[in-house]
Amino acid sequence: MALYQKTLEQFESLLKCDIIDMKKLKILAFNGCPAENGIRSLTWKILLNYLVLDRTKWSSHLSKQRELYRGYIRETIIKPGLAPTTESDVLDHPLNSAPDSSWAVYFKENEVLLQIDKDVRRLCPDLSFFQRETDYACAEILNQEAGFESLRKRIVSTALKVESQSRSRLTGRLEFEYQNKASQSSTTFDDNEYQLLPDGHEAHWEVVERILFVFSKLNSGQSYVQGMNEIIGPIYYTFATDPNPEWREHAEADAFYCFTNLMIHIRDNFMKIYDHSEFGILVRMQRLLMLLKRTESDIYYLFEKQKIKPEFYAFRWLTLLLSQEFRLPDVLRIWDSLFADQERNFEFLLYICCAMIVLQKNRLLSGSESQNIKLLQGRQIIAKRNYQQGELIFEEQPLVLAQFEWNKLYKYSACEYCLYPLESCEQNVRRLCQDSSIVIPYPECDPNQTISQRVVRCPKCNEMYCSVGCYHQAMNSYHSTLCQSDETDSKVHLIRQIIDLWRSAHPPPETTSISLVLKLMAMLKQASRKRKLLLKTGNNGVQSENQRFYHKLLRKEFQSQVEQLRQALGNFNEQYIQIEEFRWFLTPDGFRQLLALLGRNQQGVGTSSLAVWVKNCENLSTAEQAVAGAAAAAASSDISQLIDAIYTKIDDISGEFIDCEGSGLFKLQSCLNHSCDANAEIQYRHNNSTLSVVATRSISSNECNRCVSEASELDETSEEDDDDDDEMDEN
Ligand SMILES: [Zn+2]
Ligand SMILES: [Zn+2]
Repeated sequence: MALYQKTLEQFESLLKCDIIDMKKLKILAFNGCPAENGIRSLTWKILLNYLVLDRTKWSSHLSKQRELYRGYIRETIIKPGLAPTTESDVLDHPLNSAPDSSWAVYFKENEVLLQIDKDVRRLCPDLSFFQRETDYACAEILNQEAGFESLRKRIVSTALKVESQSRSRLTGRLEFEYQNKASQSSTTFDDNEYQLLPDGHEAHWEVVERILFVFSKLNSGQSYVQGMNEIIGPIYYTFATDPNPEWREHAEADAFYCFTNLMIHIRDNFMKIYDHSEFGILVRMQRLLMLLKRTESDIYYLFEKQKIKPEFYAFRWLTLLLSQEFRLPDVLRIWDSLFADQERNFEFLLYICCAMIVLQKNRLLSGSESQNIKLLQGRQIIAKRNYQQGELIFEEQPLVLAQFEWNKLYKYSACEYCLYPLESCEQNVRRLCQDSSIVIPYPECDPNQTISQRVVRCPKCNEMYCSVGCYHQAMNSYHSTLCQSDETDSKVHLIRQIIDLWRSAHPPPETTSISLVLKLMAMLKQASRKRKLLLKTGNNGVQSENQRFYHKLLRKEFQSQVEQLRQALGNFNEQYIQIEEFRWFLTPDGFRQLLALLGRNQQGVGTSSLAVWVKNCENLSTAEQAVAGAAAAAASSDISQLIDAIYTKIDDISGEFIDCEGSGLFKLQSCLNHSCDANAEIQYRHNNSTLSVVATRSISSNECNRCVSEASELDETSEEDDDDDDEMDEN
């Protein structure tokens, strides 16, 4: 911390000088810019050659540049948006197909605009920032009269007419590549996404859209290419979250210039004609390969043998400056170093990419071609030591958990907080078999024999908990908001309405629960801002999973119920929660993302008194057998017959629904990949929502994928992540 404080002071004293020492600044920035006090925001403006080194000139320079940008807006958006009544228009008309016809230009621009629009709406979907309203909406545009065609109107009127062609090189080149952010724009066009803030208000993504549109018109040779949105996003974010309102106010213009300056250096990446130029992407990928050859020739030759070309993985890394490979806080940190790179040819980027490959060395060397390509493109958790088969790798509690609504309705009785079963084995079996005469032998094998006497109830609403501890945890985290204490309270009706709607839209077998959403909202309300990280528990692939998720949950026949559900949740938020960060999730677009987020990241949890009893009985019989020989063996076979009979009867009466079931969000678990050849599995060893990841075979150090890292170590880093998230949410 002392070191950090020192860095902070070094930056501050350097940035205070009348003439800023660029060399010193680059050295400092290379090791990371503090986000505090707007240091990063200011440093980037200098490193990207927007601010001159002479501080005394800043104020006149800035006001000149910002006025110039306003001029660009007038030229590129306002003028064309005003009703065209000049003389040349008499000769020109919308059906004029001459390429220099202003209408032809207009239509061409609309295609670009539509593409930008699609792309910016999907900026950092895990971060609510871009969906939020800016305090500095563009006055020039908002002050126009009613007939003026703003970009908004232009998009709405164009969207229905033009079938936009993909301009993407990224998607074009990487079409065989795994679903990823870069291919998001291939999702089909959907009117529901076009929910805007009311007139007079602008979201941050609309500002970004305007910057890109102005850029595309001023750089008509290059225009807009998909992926540029991912470059402008972090820059604008950094400037628009500057603690100083004066900088914040002009984030749009400042980001425009910094982006333009940055594009000078990386535009070759976006233009096919530059592929073979000195800094063209092919040349750079070749240099990455050479670097790899020098660093780890084993991997280099393996790639050669497996015909794994850098185009498969490094194209996106290099073009988008790793913005897609890391979470935003890490991207910002990496960009500190890239922008501070002395030569400005992004040499250091090649080193980072090379390190990303080398870090996977062991796994790559033992992987097949397809495994390796996947490995190079996905995020993994890597084992830091060896694990034996059956060894516990880590355990974790869910961030939030909820029992399935149908499961609960049918009186699968479990702790509201941790899903521990609240029936004895006998009660459990009697209910599942609908037969109250069943007697379960070996009561000593049932740890839950007296559980129903130990149940703790919420004194206000009677909700059941397995322990006082769970009750207090629930109260502190969400239940004091959600407690349905007063039957006459409209809140109680609203919650029930939401749950009823959910059940009607989501018949069993259930995959997730709307109570997760209610609990998340209540947690945000009740807890410190730390909890805001919950909003982003799933931080990647939200979009790419979207469609798959729709098939399951948001099928057409449920559309109206889901819409009702969204509105009811919106009411609930407005009346009882009032969490700003959640509002966007309750817009049509946001709600689908929220459901997709849950769908992707939730993990099913199952608990059962019967299962524990069965397991204990089996252990008992093996132990007895060992001691008493033949007689016990007979008894053991009796037990197995009994168990078989119980399961058969349950199957007849209740079918496959045996356990208390619910779903939860788990931070570490959500980082695991799934595999047909998994090296770990998830267990619920404590018969509650505590999740255990257990090695199913021996796992060697550095093995990744499909699990798993040393839990203690990850805990440390996840703490840091939390802090980052908090900082970002502050703004
Ligand atoms: Zn509990
Ligand atoms: Zn209660």
